[in-house]
Amino acid sequence: MHVSHQKVTVVFAWSMPNSLALKLKYSTPEKRMLTFNNDKRCSDEGFNRILADAGFYVKPKNREQESIVRLACCRCPLELRMLGQSFDPDREHARWFPTCAHVIHRMGIEFIHSVLEDTRKQQEHDDGVEN
Ligand SMILES: [Zn+2]
Repeated sequence: MHVSHQKVTVVFAWSMPNSLALKLKYSTPEKRMLTFNNDKRCSDEGFNRILADAGFYVKPKNREQESIVRLACCRCPLELRMLGQSFDPDREHARWFPTCAHVIHRMGIEFIHSVLEDTRKQQEHDDGVEN
């Protein structure tokens, strides 16, 4: 059966989830950086850069007075609430979404394995403390 190129393209567009299409807006670190620069709550430029490089952008506020900054990944469904600067965005990303293409491409599979191993050890430790 012959499938024309045009037909394949159209089927792909139809099957592409809306959320994925929206995320193309945030496909480069510069585009993601804009969402931080446009948000008064994100005043630490150094940390903003780290988050943008890690694949995150700032989600629009649900209401004007919202104080907690919500971050979303440009490639996977992960969303985080920014609770301060003590967390490592790459580690959290790998921990919650080890299959995210952005994390795999950026950090490599070895890093992801080490994060998952640390998480497993931490859980064993926590279980031990409870017993
Ligand atoms: Zn991701």
